[in-house]
Amino acid sequence: MIEVNIDLQPHNTLAISANTAFFARVETLDELREALSFAQQKRLPILPLGGGSNIVLTGDFPGLAIQVGLRGLTITPNGRGGTIEAAAGEEWHQLVMSTVEQGMGGLENLALIPGKVGAAPIQNIGAYGVELCDFFCSLQAMEISTGALHNFSVSDCEFDYRDSVFKGRLRDQFIITQVNLRLEQDWQPRVAYPALQQFIGQQGWDCDSLTPAQIAAAVIDIRNSKLPLPDQIPNAGSFFKNPVVNADIYQNLKSAHPDLVAYASGEGWKLAAGWLIDRAGWRGRRQEAVGVHHQQALVLVNPGRGCGDDVTRLARAIASDVQDKFGVTLEPEPRYYP
Ligand SMILES: Cc1cc2nc3c(=O)[nH]c(=O)nc-3n(C[C@H](O)[C@H](O)[C@H](O)COP(=O)(O)OP(=O)(O)OC[C@H]3O[C@@H](n4cnc5c(N)ncnc54)[C@H](O)[C@@H]3O)c2cc1C
Repeated sequence: MIEVNIDLQPHNTLAISANTAFFARVETLDELREALSFAQQKRLPILPLGGGSNIVLTGDFPGLAIQVGLRGLTITPNGRGGTIEAAAGEEWHQLVMSTVEQGMGGLENLALIPGKVGAAPIQNIGAYGVELCDFFCSLQAMEISTGALHNFSVSDCEFDYRDSVFKGRLRDQFIITQVNLRLEQDWQPRVAYPALQQFIGQQGWDCDSLTPAQIAAAVIDIRNSKLPLPDQIPNAGSFFKNPVVNADIYQNLKSAHPDLVAYASGEGWKLAAGWLIDRAGWRGRRQEAVGVHHQQALVLVNPGRGCGDDVTRLARAIASDVQDKFGVTLEPEPRYYP
């Protein structure tokens, strides 16, 4: 059923109030097709919605927001590995925990990332040294203009750091309906991140006999201690991507700021955006209704239920200061609508 003039505040984790002209929650492929054909007849733009944890609403949306509520999760374990077929409307964290509970390994570092399965490939979600593309097998998506279903292999998706073909060349052309993953049997723990190392050391766990469940518990504990829960303090997680720079720029910055936090990435260096924002003096600062989290400078928060413009102004001011101080450009991670 198509609803008219709906406030999307409950549907985005920044809790921004903005109306969508039309709203539909779809639970089957036929319902999705019907919603798309309604939008096509009225020439409406489409906003596919999962959990709304990676969007910034800068104003009312003059189209059809489609909440993708397709359900279904099939997990077939095979030792530590196995296969997973998940419909787009499944909760990502529930999927991770279902695999971990069955002793399967691979996804544990991606525990507690908010949102739905269908959004996970859009920005190739990642955390603690692991990305979705490491386990991705294929996905199914409905073409917005025709309602036809298409399959995408890993190479079709053109995954990159917080990026995929669905943010680039095929932006706004498909709605993801199902994601298929494969976990390998020869699982190895991936615990190189300092925070994970530290947690494991504190627990006195033996690094040679770690289980996926232990690592998931570690990730959940670390995330809960560092990141604000959106239902307590509205936020969209990391607001900026970690900028990747070449070796010359990195060396110059490192000479000027010896405590710079950065990780080798391909032929360049990935700078910790949170460190740059912190050193530009923004951690814990408030600007009207919005602000920067006091513990994690990469997270913009909206405790005063500000509007999208408040968030945008804050993000621009931060990016401008970081540019002036370090000569580095910050790129927002969430997508702005409209
Ligand atoms: C507290 C917090 C922590 C976070 N931590 C991480 C993290 O560690 N790593 C990380 O990568 N991200 C993180 N995020 C960002 C976010 O959780 C992920 O990007 C997640 O995949 C978004 O899922 P969603 O269902 O909420 O997507 P939404 O916000 O609803 O949508 C995001 C984008 O995907 C599109 N989209 C959604 N569903 C579909 C679909 N079925 N088909 C086509 N397009 C679709 C939307 O139109 C939008 O452009 C965090 C966010 C929060 C609030």
